[in-house]
Amino acid sequence: MTKLTDKNIRSQFLKMLFAIVFVFSIVILGFYVYVKSTNEHLSQQREELSDKAKIVSSMEESFSDIFFRARGYYAFKNNDELQQLYSGLNLFEMQLKDFGRLDLTVEELELYDRLETFTITYREQILPEAIGYVETDNYEALQQLSNGGANSLVNEFIAYAKEYNNQTEVSITQLFNEIIEQAQFYTLLYIVLGAGLLLVIGLIMQRVISNLILPIEKLTAATNSFVTGHYVDINVVREREDELGALARSFYDMTISIQDKEEELTTQNEELTAQQDELQANQAQLQTSLNQLEKFNKLNHVLTFTLDKQQLLTNLHTYVRDVYKFDTSILYLVDTQDFSVKGMTEQSAHQLMRNLHTDKKVRLEEEKSFVIKREMLQGHETIAQQSYFMYDLYTAVLNSEGKLVAVMMATREGHMFTNQELLDINGLMNQASIAFERIFMYEEVERSRKLNQKIIDTVNEGIQFVSKVGEVVVMNQALSGIIHAPTYEKYEHTTQQSWLQHFQAIVDEPEAIMYFLKNAIIEDFGDTRTMRYRISQSLSAASFIEVYATSVYESDAKIGTMFVHRDITAEYEVDQMKSELVSTVSHELRTPLSSILGFTELLLTKELKQERQQKYIETIHKEAKRLTNLINDFLDLQRMESGRQTYTMEPFVLGALADDIIKNFQHEKNHTITLTNEAMNDRIIGDKERLTQLFINIIGNAIKFSPSGGEIQVKLENKVDQVVISIQDEGIGIPKDAITSLFQKFKRIDNSARRKIGGTGLGLALSKEIALQHNGTIWIESEEGEGTTVFVGLPLHAQQSIKHFHEQAPQDKQGNYVMIVEDDLSSAILLAEELKTKGFLVLYQDDPQKALEEALHIPLIGIVIDLMFGDKMKGWDLVHELRAHEQTKDLPIVISSALDEAKEKVEQYQITKYFTKPFMQEELSRVLLAAK
Ligand code: ADP
Repeated sequence: MTKLTDKNIRSQFLKMLFAIVFVFSIVILGFYVYVKSTNEHLSQQREELSDKAKIVSSMEESFSDIFFRARGYYAFKNNDELQQLYSGLNLFEMQLKDFGRLDLTVEELELYDRLETFTITYREQILPEAIGYVETDNYEALQQLSNGGANSLVNEFIAYAKEYNNQTEVSITQLFNEIIEQAQFYTLLYIVLGAGLLLVIGLIMQRVISNLILPIEKLTAATNSFVTGHYVDINVVREREDELGALARSFYDMTISIQDKEEELTTQNEELTAQQDELQANQAQLQTSLNQLEKFNKLNHVLTFTLDKQQLLTNLHTYVRDVYKFDTSILYLVDTQDFSVKGMTEQSAHQLMRNLHTDKKVRLEEEKSFVIKREMLQGHETIAQQSYFMYDLYTAVLNSEGKLVAVMMATREGHMFTNQELLDINGLMNQASIAFERIFMYEEVERSRKLNQKIIDTVNEGIQFVSKVGEVVVMNQALSGIIHAPTYEKYEHTTQQSWLQHFQAIVDEPEAIMYFLKNAIIEDFGDTRTMRYRISQSLSAASFIEVYATSVYESDAKIGTMFVHRDITAEYEVDQMKSELVSTVSHELRTPLSSILGFTELLLTKELKQERQQKYIETIHKEAKRLTNLINDFLDLQRMESGRQTYTMEPFVLGALADDIIKNFQHEKNHTITLTNEAMNDRIIGDKERLTQLFINIIGNAIKFSPSGGEIQVKLENKVDQVVISIQDEGIGIPKDAITSLFQKFKRIDNSARRKIGGTGLGLALSKEIALQHNGTIWIESEEGEGTTVFVGLPLHAQQSIKHFHEQAPQDKQGNYVMIVEDDLSSAILLAEELKTKGFLVLYQDDPQKALEEALHIPLIGIVIDLMFGDKMKGWDLVHELRAHEQTKDLPIVISSALDEAKEKVEQYQITKYFTKPFMQEELSRVLLAAK
């Protein structure tokens, strides 16, 4: 490091700074001393002047006071005044002494002397003399004394004092001016000094710039240039002997050393780059190997696990062609022709597969793989500049019997196959062979599984195989139907708990079947167990199922349980029916037969009176008839059920038929039968004979099952679009849970109270069949011990024909006929219901033209007309026509319409009432009653 000498920047600047501080300190100190002394001198002068002025002025006051007191004394001879005169004189003498001590001018000294002399004279001569005159009242002498020299001195002093005061003021003003001048001078001096200072600072700055900043800039530029690799000459700076010189020299040394290092580093860097390249190459190789390994791993996974042969084909092919860099290749399955290709169209692939020569196949089976080398001559088929070789690889996947499973054909252009490559590819093909065999085996198993499933699905019985732990292993479609379970795909592999839970939810009385199923699963039993259960009625109308359970064994160990569920509902019902039939037949056949036999024996063996004979024959006849009825019923039902029964359908008024039938029952002694016909003239379409049979069956039952007699009410009602017949008795009633089953053939309630009441159990079955044939319904409401009502609903015949009215009209000319002309049957029925309850006879028409014809023939008491028929406003036309005819010109007309009221028409045609739908039907009755 360069030793810093006196020329170093720090000492130079310290010296300069010291000199400036020193010079300026001296100047400022001198200036300060000078200004201070001047100021002191001036203020001393001022003080002296003002002191002198003060003393002179107080002397003047004392002087005047003396003479003022003297005059007072002279005038009044007052001793007080004289006293004060003396004290004034004393004061003056003191003041004069003070004055005499001041720095006095010559004139002032002279005045001082005179005043001193005067005071002495005045005290010692004049005043005693004057006192003497006053004492003696010698005022003349006193006058003369006053006019003596004393007075002139006094006046002279007063004048002097005044003059002195004036002079003092002038001197003070002068002094002030002097001070101002001095201040201006100092200001100027300050400016000069400031300018000097600035100059000095400027000089210093200039030196700093040239000596410090410029070299530093040079150094900075050199540093920057060095960074960018350029050279800047800093020799001038280097030659300096100060710190900058040292810095420049250090910098220079540093650049030299860096340049040396840089070269070294560049060499090292090159070395490193070379190493890195090598590493990268290694890494790329590693990456490739890793990728290869990953692919192989994936392939291995596929080879081991996949069950999809297309996936295996694709993966194997992709792997081999990637690793062995085939230009074109195909891998395909010989049997199914599934394939994977690269570098050719699907069409060419198919062609290649088709055209593989048998010789090649044979060779493949023998050699497993071989390569064919062929020369590609330079020509129009290639873009190569010269001839080269193509290498075709043929390799195969063979099965364990040495038969071809898959073939791979691959081509490499100008790139032969090494022995190692061929060995590796063969190895892969062997692995693939195992994988393909596994897949084929799986497919075979799957095929047979599906076949088995199809077979068991065709079975009508529900089949369910359950493992030892109760899990469903196999089940069929039929079972899912029987037990209302999801299809077997979803149901298979369900745990014991979940399928048993399902069972529990769907069966009636689940305890027994749960016990049966659970035991069958855990117990080891050689025979077959059977159990019956019933699917809940809320799910389906009573399904009776029989389940068989059998243990399934494998090498003497139970592996599960086979359950076969069989729907035995039909059998069960037949069984039921059979037992019912047997009991019916035994009773219903035996009773009349035994009577017939008994009475005929009597007739044959005994001599009987005429009347007796007659009576017995009548009984035999009655019983034979009973038998005939039974057989007829049975045959009727057979006929109906087999569809052989013919029905003669025609429209008729049900009320009339009911009336006729009831008349036939009038001979009943214990029962009163009444008919309430609210349907009046409503008509249905039906077979009168069959409906009569239905009525007789139901009324017969009502009589039979109310052994204590009572009233039987037959009622016809109009309910919207059907006539509902109800037959109500006050008999023994029916238990609630038995009601629905009574419509089955031979079904009877079997208890002692009823056994006495005969019957076949066919009546209700027949009635139901008849009702169904009329598109009707039948149902029973009953309360045990209180009575039963059987209802039959039959559809109403929409077109009430005028013909029918004419048949009826003559008998009822005086009737309260009201006609409803309306195209909506429901609306019409609603109005008719209301009118009927109020005693009107209601006619219905849905065609205005027919309504007019009818109205002209029948004495109506009113007509209710809807305005819209379909989309036509025919209502007003009808009204117009009615008003135009003599017979109907005054007929009360009520309009019932969804349209708003048309006032002018209402007035024009004298409409009785215009109802806008919807309206209260009672209103209509009220209006018609009023119009009657
Ligand atoms: P049958 O009357 O010949 O026995 P049905 O089929 O007519 O056969 O009736 C079946 C059963 O329904 C009857 O055995 C009876 O138990 C019951 N049943 C039918 N109608 C009535 C009724 N009105 N009151 C009580 N039980 C009735």
